[in-house]
Amino acid sequence: MRRKFKLVTLLGIRPDIIRMRKLLHLLDRGQARHGYQHLYVHSGQHYDYSLDGIFHRELDVRRPKFNMRTGRTLKKRAKTSHVYQAAFLFEKTAQMLERMRPDAVLFLGDTNTVLSAVVVAKYNIPVIHVEGGGRSFDWRMPEEKNRIIIDHLSDVIYCYLERYKQILLAEGVAEHRVVSVGNIIIDALEEFLPAARQRPILQSLGVQARKYALCTLHREENIENRKILAAKIKGLRQLSRLLPVVFPVMPRVRARLRRFGLANLLKSPGIILTEPLGFLDFLKLEAEAKMIVTDSGTVQEEALLLGVPCLVTRRSTERPETIAAGASILAEGDLYSNAQRALQMAPQWDRTVLNPLGGSPSERIYEDLLSRMRSGYFARSRSLAMLQENQFVREAYGLAQCSLQHLSQPSEKVLCAR
Ligand code: UDP
Repeated sequence: MRRKFKLVTLLGIRPDIIRMRKLLHLLDRGQARHGYQHLYVHSGQHYDYSLDGIFHRELDVRRPKFNMRTGRTLKKRAKTSHVYQAAFLFEKTAQMLERMRPDAVLFLGDTNTVLSAVVVAKYNIPVIHVEGGGRSFDWRMPEEKNRIIIDHLSDVIYCYLERYKQILLAEGVAEHRVVSVGNIIIDALEEFLPAARQRPILQSLGVQARKYALCTLHREENIENRKILAAKIKGLRQLSRLLPVVFPVMPRVRARLRRFGLANLLKSPGIILTEPLGFLDFLKLEAEAKMIVTDSGTVQEEALLLGVPCLVTRRSTERPETIAAGASILAEGDLYSNAQRALQMAPQWDRTVLNPLGGSPSERIYEDLLSRMRSGYFARSRSLAMLQENQFVREAYGLAQCSLQHLSQPSEKVLCAR
């Protein structure tokens, strides 16, 4: 009997669970009907309950089949840098592949977890990337390196927008590998906004609708340098004199504040500090805020969808569409004066720009994956025949009429061999 197609989804951090919730459910539910097997694996990059467990519970996402425990293990070893993370993930991914022997591995986004795609590709197992083609063109960002690495190793890339697809084509990625589907965060908002609206979090925190700012900070460029972090906190203190600032603080940011001796700077009557919140409470706070200050890519998108002005307090962004739509301001400098600019913005932008095709982006990915599984695409995606479909390859070999077989002898079987 033919073995069932085995798909592994490998995720690692908070927004992965939020974004992928609908697709995970679709992939789980379709197994019996469409005759494939779907396994969910977690890298353990985020492991605190407030960044991981709560999202599985609240969003009804099943626990992973296997957790690599990356974050927890490296914390114990006091070796948490990017390089140690990558090394650890490489080894764990190799073990996972040898044990599970998947036919393809699906990743999302641009975190260090997606670096595991290097190992998957080395084993000649097809890689699927959701959220491909995003570029900040800022090489100092750790995420920019991850984006480029995974996209160029992927057999299928799902892009949020046509513009992302064009970036990939310009980088030489073959067109048959790239599909533009719309932004999957829309599915999460559609599903959870009604429940979020019922949450009593505003009363719990003592703030009123449209009379507070919401802030998140976690990106390396903002938290790893004492001077920059201190300037951001000072900006938040200034802003808190205009309107209360609700600030859920990530564990890593708390650790930096303590290490840099800045924890007291955050103690200000107008700044309401919380632990990282569950998605429903956070979504409610986003929807009712007067403005949002953030360095998060996802929060930037959610602000656009919810009609809340947003200051993206960063050097660059891989989501310029929110700026182009007039929903966000991008400014790395003085937080307070830029927040004042954001407060002047009228929320009249087009909220459909993240999903120009309408419908459900997760469903579009699911349908495309199903048809590729059915057609045997993943067994052929690295074949010579497919190589010839890349216009860059054709141009490079001057292949107007003839085929690559005329130039070299390797059979498709050799190129596909695992
Ligand atoms: N979020 C949350 N609780 C919080 C802060 C954020 O549930 O306290 C959600 C937020 O709504 C968004 C996602 O987490 O969906 C953003 O995650 P993060 O900023 O860590 O990641 P990024 O988008 O920058 O990769």
